Amino acid sequence: MSCLFCKIVNGEIPSTKVYEDEHVLAFEDIAPDAPVHTLVIPKQHVTSLMDLNDPALMQHLIKACQQVAKDKGVDDGFRLVTNIGEDGGQSVFHLHFHLIGGRPLSWPPG
Ligand code: AMP
Repeated sequence: MSCLFCKIVNGEIPSTKVYEDEHVLAFEDIAPDAPVHTLVIPKQHVTSLMDLNDPALMQHLIKACQQVAKDKGVDDGFRLVTNIGEDGGQSVFHLHFHLIGGRPLSWPPG
């Protein structure tokens, strides 16, 4: 398996873990865009949100995002983003949510 985030799930590539359960892993983004920048991913390989067909897994992911936001102290304001496909800015083709916060965030993002 050549997927970078599958290698992080398997421990082949190190990460700074923030949250983990049976289905979901969250770890710090290696190039943070804000004081809080955590990636929340399914442990099983899903290429992007367009390939997510399991409502239970989606629920696990959202619950994990809520928990990470609370643990990071940004639960009263943060941004959750998932890039889809090359045109959407996706560079790692394993579904991930960017959980970004800890500073005021403008919209649209600049
Ligand atoms: P995207 O461009 O939406 O696919 O986001 C991929 C994210 O993965 C980027 O924000 C990268 O900084 C991050 N990233 C790439 N390699 C690693 C790594 N080894 N550990 C943690 N984050 C990474």
